[in-house]
Amino acid sequence: MTRIHIQELRDNIGKKVTIAGWVDIRRDHGKLIFIDLRDVTGKVQMVALPFNKEAHEQAGAIRSEWVIEVQGNVNKRPDKMVNDKEENGDIEFEMLDITVINEARTPPFEVNIDTATVDENIRLKYRYLDLRSARMQRNMKLRADFIHTAREYLRGQGFIEIETPLLTATTPEGSRDFVVPSRLNRGKFYALPQSPQQYKQLLMAAGFERYMQLARAIRDEDLRADRGFEHTQIDLEMSFVTQEDVINMVENTITHTVEKLGYTIREKPFPRITYKEAMEKYGADKFDMRTEEERATGVLAYAWVVEFPFFEKTDTGGWTFTHNPFSMPIPEHIPLLLEGKNIADILTTQYDLVCNGYESGGGSIRSHRRDVLEATYHIMGYTKEQTEQSVGHMLEAFEFGMPPHGGIALGVERTIMNLTGETALREVQAFPMTRGGQTAVMQNAPGELTTEQLLELGITVIKQKQI
Ligand code: ASP
Repeated sequence: MTRIHIQELRDNIGKKVTIAGWVDIRRDHGKLIFIDLRDVTGKVQMVALPFNKEAHEQAGAIRSEWVIEVQGNVNKRPDKMVNDKEENGDIEFEMLDITVINEARTPPFEVNIDTATVDENIRLKYRYLDLRSARMQRNMKLRADFIHTAREYLRGQGFIEIETPLLTATTPEGSRDFVVPSRLNRGKFYALPQSPQQYKQLLMAAGFERYMQLARAIRDEDLRADRGFEHTQIDLEMSFVTQEDVINMVENTITHTVEKLGYTIREKPFPRITYKEAMEKYGADKFDMRTEEERATGVLAYAWVVEFPFFEKTDTGGWTFTHNPFSMPIPEHIPLLLEGKNIADILTTQYDLVCNGYESGGGSIRSHRRDVLEATYHIMGYTKEQTEQSVGHMLEAFEFGMPPHGGIALGVERTIMNLTGETALREVQAFPMTRGGQTAVMQNAPGELTTEQLLELGITVIKQKQI
């Protein structure tokens, strides 16, 4: 008999069907043995009745997390047994024949309750068990729904999804790179992308006009609750646009997506506030505008922060970019940038999207002119040669017919955190790292290389104590 899913049981009341899944819990009442069975679509209470000797005996031997297949009758529960609070609380599955597909060891923690309080290292070591829990299943499914809905919407708006390389050159994004040694070019290294920033701009040079990608961004920065080494962005770039066009596109995408998923946005269009006003009013460029009551109801308070300073002072007294060196200053400040005057006052076209206290995205209109990008690098203290070395390929692309363009990257995890109310990025990623940077389940990374591997790559490792 073909297996059906638990959510299909309701359409099969009065019929004999087969279901399969994991044993969520077993309650032995002597005469009656109850087993809650779980599959990807939900949970149902099954019962073994004493007159069916074989099924009753089998049910008695079964333990939590075993994988079983059960043939049985889908019955409506008698009125007085209906439980509104329980999933499928109005039906019951009468077990007729049980097949044990695979037994299971006693899990290191219970997965049929919220695992939030379980030791993090244990949760991550057994992440596949942790992911069985209802909260984690819900988080991962919501993440998939969010991505699917946003992607579909953007596709409808003419965005073309294009993947960009993971093994690439370093790009200035304000963080440290993760590097990968090259076997073919010994002693040389690739960098993993902190973002597809330059590639997406080059796709504008290539004439795609509207690009999108669910891009992995990999950054070696200090780990925090809302930050990991890896995160996913909905990365966008558009040609022939102004700041207004990008902001509208993003607002429409987010509004369509989160409202379709049943969420409420506090204010539309999203309010805009300048960086200066934000600092005066909230003392930060990310803030939470919700009232106590709105916090409880899961409202999404989106806002844009605009008019950021382009540059900030470095520790050594020079200048560096605040957000993105590829940004264009606001049009009236282009002359200041070109002349390198009043550097602290130059404002960039950067726009950050804030939601419920998190920076949920950021982007800008880009410089598409050689003189503007050169001037930016000049202000940051690069010589002509150093600029050429760092972004010469971009400057060159600008000379082959680069359209004006701009874009944004929206953080997927931070959005899902806002949708679920989770306060740690780890709760919305399938296999996050531990706080100490150890990979989940496969806990041998980062690990050492064998002498053979090191030789092949031409690498010598200097141990901490040798430095
Ligand atoms: N590359 C930027 C980032 O990852 C986003 C952008 O400006 O599009 O933060």
